Amino acid sequence: MRETVLIEEMTWPEVREAIRRGKRRVIVMLGAMEQHGPHLPIGTDTYLGYATGDRLARRLGDALVAPVVTLGYSAGHLPMAGTVSIEETTLQAVIADVCRSLARHGFREIVLLCSHGGNYRALRNALAGVRDEHRDLRISAITDFDEWLEHTTAFAAREGLDMTRLGVHAGQGETSLMLAHRPDLVQMDKACEGFTGDASIRWRSKVPPPMDTMSPTGILGDARESTAGLGETMFRERIERVAQMIEAGALAR
Ligand SMILES: [Zn+2]
Repeated sequence: MRETVLIEEMTWPEVREAIRRGKRRVIVMLGAMEQHGPHLPIGTDTYLGYATGDRLARRLGDALVAPVVTLGYSAGHLPMAGTVSIEETTLQAVIADVCRSLARHGFREIVLLCSHGGNYRALRNALAGVRDEHRDLRISAITDFDEWLEHTTAFAAREGLDMTRLGVHAGQGETSLMLAHRPDLVQMDKACEGFTGDASIRWRSKVPPPMDTMSPTGILGDARESTAGLGETMFRERIERVAQMIEAGALAR
C-alpha cells in the first residue's frame, strides 16, 4: 500500500507518529471553488492543490499535507454558475485558524502556498499576524503572484510555448496539469480558445473585473493544445523549484 502524506487520510495516532519520526513540515495549500471554463471542473484549483501538496511533500521527504483550504477569494468568477467565493478577510481568518491548529501538533515549519491566484493578497495580509503569533515556528510562504507569473513566463519561453495560450486561468497550463492529475475530470472535446490578450488588470486591481466581461467562456488562454505530458513537465519544474526554495529557507521570514 502506498504510504499517504495527506493528513486527512491518516488516523490521529499515525499523524502523531509521523511527526515524531521526522515529518517536521506541514504544507497548507490554498485552493478555490470557481469556474474553470466549459471543460474543467469547479474544483480545479483545489484538485491541483492536493496534487501539488502531495508531490511536494514526497519530494521534500519530511512533510505532510494539511487538508486543502477548498474555498478562496473568487469574487470575479461569481457571474459563472457554481463558483463559491469567500471574502479576503474570511480567508485571512481561516489561514490564521488553520495555522493555530497545526501549531499544536509538533511541526517545526508551516508552508503556505496558493493554487489559486486570487488568494495571494489574503495570504500576504495574514502572514505578519501568523508569524507574530507563532514565533517558535518557521512560517514559509509564497505571497507574490508576480513571482509565479515570472517563473511561468520563463518556463513557457524555455519550452517554446506561447504564454498567452498557456494562460493564467483554465488555459493550456491548468488544463495540462489536470490532464496529468485527474484526466477523468477533463472534457477535452469542450476545450477551446479563451481570452488571449493582456489579462493583467485581473491581478492589478483590488476587485477583479467580472470574468464574463473579459472571457465569455471563462478561459484566459487557449486550452486546446493541452497534454498530460506537458502537465507532468509543469508539475516537475514547479515542485523542484519550490522544494529548493523551501530547503534553502528562502520562503521563511
Ligand atoms: Zn485555476
